[in-house]
Amino acid sequence: MRFNETLEDHMSSVENYLMDIHGVAVDYDPMGLDEYWIDDKVVTINDTRQKQEQLFVLLHEAGHVILRESPDFEKMCPHARNSKIEVLKEEIFAWEEARKLASMLGIDLGEDWDRHVRHAITKYVRWTQI
Ligand SMILES: [Zn+2]
Repeated sequence: MRFNETLEDHMSSVENYLMDIHGVAVDYDPMGLDEYWIDDKVVTINDTRQKQEQLFVLLHEAGHVILRESPDFEKMCPHARNSKIEVLKEEIFAWEEARKLASMLGIDLGEDWDRHVRHAITKYVRWTQI
């Protein structure tokens, strides 16, 4: 676990990137869902969790922003609204975009990242099987 100060610096870097490059704001709220609201250009983050988890979630939602802005999105995840497998693909791609963004911003993801990503993807895999 790293110091909250560093984590807050990293979160600021991601927030600045989202606003400067994509015009997307970040809203922290104890009732917030961890989600990218594409029509409102807002990412909401539930801020009742530990800072490190909030950073990971923020990076992941930024990954969704990057994917949705990509001209290739429809080819990468065709019919994402109608297919659980396409939703799962987008989730996995968003984690990879998150990793690349962290690297670009000089954010050291630390040793908990891999476990967090596996856990998040596992939940989605289970959901596709319902
Ligand atoms: Zn997601």
